[in-house]
Amino acid sequence: MNGKEKQNFLRHIPAVSAIIENKRVKELIEKYSHNLVVESASDVTGLLREKILSTGEKELDKINLSLEKVIAMLEENIQAKVSPNLCKVINATGIVLHTNLGRALLAETAVSAVANIAGSYNNLELDLSTGERGSRYVHVEGLLSKITGAEGAMVVNNNAAAVLLVLNTFAKDKEVIVSRGQLVEIGGSFRVPDVMTASGARLVEVGTTNKTHLRDFENAINEETAMILKVHTSNYKVVGFTAEVGNEEMVKLGTERGIPVVEDLGSGVLINLKNYCLQEEPTVQDAIKAGVDVVTFSGDKLFGGPQAGIIVGRREYIEKMKKNPLTRAFRVDKLTFAALEATLKLYIDPEQAVKDIPTLQMLTVSIDQLEKKARRLVRSLKQKLADKAQINLDKGYSQVGGGAMPTEDIPSILVTIQPIKNSVTHLEEKLRLGEIPVLARIQKDQLLIDVRTVKDEEIALLVKAIEQAL
Ligand SMILES: *Cc1c(COP(=O)(O)O)cnc(C)c1O
Repeated sequence: MNGKEKQNFLRHIPAVSAIIENKRVKELIEKYSHNLVVESASDVTGLLREKILSTGEKELDKINLSLEKVIAMLEENIQAKVSPNLCKVINATGIVLHTNLGRALLAETAVSAVANIAGSYNNLELDLSTGERGSRYVHVEGLLSKITGAEGAMVVNNNAAAVLLVLNTFAKDKEVIVSRGQLVEIGGSFRVPDVMTASGARLVEVGTTNKTHLRDFENAINEETAMILKVHTSNYKVVGFTAEVGNEEMVKLGTERGIPVVEDLGSGVLINLKNYCLQEEPTVQDAIKAGVDVVTFSGDKLFGGPQAGIIVGRREYIEKMKKNPLTRAFRVDKLTFAALEATLKLYIDPEQAVKDIPTLQMLTVSIDQLEKKARRLVRSLKQKLADKAQINLDKGYSQVGGGAMPTEDIPSILVTIQPIKNSVTHLEEKLRLGEIPVLARIQKDQLLIDVRTVKDEEIALLVKAIEQAL
């Protein structure tokens, strides 16, 4: 009996050959392609078959096998195939540099520079004045030198590659001294001891977790020493009784002994954040001014540009690194250079940089501005959803993220949403799976929307997404 009933249902699934004869489906074939539509039609009929086979007899009647329903499923299936997997999301977490969400957003001028270069030939490695082969670094080297005060500069794929390149070029089969207080792990895959091993250099740890003195470095130097490496502890802080050696002292020691001092600054700040009521972070300019020989930092953390590892420092060192075969393996493309050049141009005027570079703008926006934006959002939500959720304003905190400034909680204004019928986890999931996915935090039974990371032009989209999810 059961078997027969199911056979009967299976027979009622429209055949692929019948589906593609439908007028609406013919339009889909016209718009996409015959192959894609046939593939999706057979996906859909396959799904329906599985569903019938796995459904209990009493529930079978609930399965809708009308052609109309099948075509709706077909359109959804095609849509999923043609829409990109890597897609825009709305970041309502308030975490400005969210590594899972792609870190820094590019400034508008950087976005247009990328769009402009992406689809056209360009002078990436052509010196237009002579017609001869040029260097790809010239597009940013001058700007980087001007802004950081360094003699030379180059760019690789990311800061991990930059550190690996520095170590491999100057310390392969030799010793590198690092303070025990600075043996960082960033994001689970960048670990100073592992990068050291991969580069072929030998790590010499000195000092203790909380205190490292100049004499620790002095005592560790021998004929095998190739470098002193300082690593900015960007994702943790050691507090209490602590001591690290300052740049001036370290540079003096390095100069006396003829050993280069290198600093991995991690987040790469080029403006004094203290002027904007944030914690002070060491700037690239400060390190160069103090005489550090080579400084490396990320392009897509606090600098606010594309993913890149930026290396600045003494010309002789930069030139030597450019000749390392690893440089070819770590090389960045025209899109990165386009974005980087445009971002660097904004730094010529630091006030402009803070306004136009989204990462800096989001970190420095006033609480009044945030409150205005949050109130706008609450008004729109209440207009549409007052019967579905309790919607309020609350005080809270945003974070820098991206492993930068871990102890900095920046006061912010949150919009809280407490669904009346469904659970908050259900709402969070529906938002995450929506047409434009929205990422938000949950606290107890409330969804928290931090408007710091939501752009003005995204407010309407956010309202629509929440409306759909509720
Ligand atoms: C983030 C970070 C890195 C890794 O940089 P990527 O650009 O993500 O490769 C290395 N060192 C420090 C100190 C960092 O903060």
